[in-house]
Amino acid sequence: MREIPGAWRRAASGAGLLDAHGTVTPTIFAEMSALADRTDAINLGQGFPDQDGPAEVMEAARAAISAGVNQYPPGRGMPVLREAIAAHQHRFYGLDADPDREVLVTAGATEALAATLLALIEGPDDEVVVFEPYYDAYAAIVALAGATLVPVPLSWPTFQPDVEALARAVTDRTRLILVNDPHNPTGAVFSAEVRAEIVRLAERHDAIIVTDEVYEHLVFDAQHVPIATLPGAAQRTVSISSAGKTFSMTGWKIGWITAPADLVTAILAVKQFLTYVSGSPFQPAIAVGLGLPDAFFTGIAATLRVKRDVLGAGLSAAGFDVSAPAGSYFTIADAAPFLASGMDAGDFCRGLPARTGVVAIPLTAFASPSRAAPYRTLVRFAACKRVEVLDEASRRLATLTR
Ligand code: PMP
Ligand code: GLN
Repeated sequence: MREIPGAWRRAASGAGLLDAHGTVTPTIFAEMSALADRTDAINLGQGFPDQDGPAEVMEAARAAISAGVNQYPPGRGMPVLREAIAAHQHRFYGLDADPDREVLVTAGATEALAATLLALIEGPDDEVVVFEPYYDAYAAIVALAGATLVPVPLSWPTFQPDVEALARAVTDRTRLILVNDPHNPTGAVFSAEVRAEIVRLAERHDAIIVTDEVYEHLVFDAQHVPIATLPGAAQRTVSISSAGKTFSMTGWKIGWITAPADLVTAILAVKQFLTYVSGSPFQPAIAVGLGLPDAFFTGIAATLRVKRDVLGAGLSAAGFDVSAPAGSYFTIADAAPFLASGMDAGDFCRGLPARTGVVAIPLTAFASPSRAAPYRTLVRFAACKRVEVLDEASRRLATLTR
């Protein structure tokens, strides 16, 4: 086989996807969705909804295509969307962002994360503090940028970081603190104490905070609190979100950044050479979505809360211990009662379609293999499906035997 040099190996191995033969394996999401398709199982693995988002948002995209909004949009994003993002930040959080200087439209939150990390990481001496388990892209991009990942562990069942462990992780070498709240894969919403500590440590060590808030409108028992709203935080925070989860349009890949103007300019310097721009007809459509009445936003949280409860009850009835997620699409279940000796959550998930016709994702896939032991028996299930689908999945899971 030919040796292909380059940075690809860093990206793949950062995400734990380089196998013993030097071959890149698919992401756990791709692997598990393919398994679900192959076995015709209910896919509670990869987090995507099984219903379309708001009709008026889809109609606005169709109208934009018909009206000829099909060429390159401006580099920072179409003004109508940047204005809608700024208005959304003000309406929900009281944050003021200048749409011309402090807002940047990206190809999903994924590009926002990649452009931000690649732009703001200087080199191998930089450390990026992350909460582990973490969304797979984080470790891949940090590795691609050549920096060092410094994990702060989140433990079952609450998945709140220990503030002392957090304080030990942040030092003068910390370039970025990467926060995902509400958190994928655990569904945790960080406590006020944790949020305040993140800001205090970032100030003390002059670090930048990058927040991934793609589940901002999927919080069940409280209002989402962006870290940028904490005193002193906005000037050192890059806030990232996306339309995928809020509007059930995960394939549209419209994301955005709000940050101080100098940080946006630095991130744009990289972003313009990743995609340059993307998604022109979807941009005005998402602007329509961001302007929907409050009832839409409270409605999506209330609907997902019901689904979380249906899924949680189904998993409990089947014999799993389950977490109590405060936000996001996800619930964590402990599969320990169903593991034969020597099996872990990965084996369990790969065998689950044959056992019950359901697909889920092992939590170990969201941690470095060297630190995955505490998550050995834990499985992530997605609740973002129709209630009848969750009911059927519950019936199937109830047939599991120990
Ligand atoms: N961050 C988190 C925590 C996510 O769960 C996801 C995707 N599901 C993303 C980023 C990527 O978002 P997008 O699809 O907008 O790129
Ligand atoms: N964010 C989705 C999840 O966590 C998956 C996105 C992807 O496939 N990369 O399930």
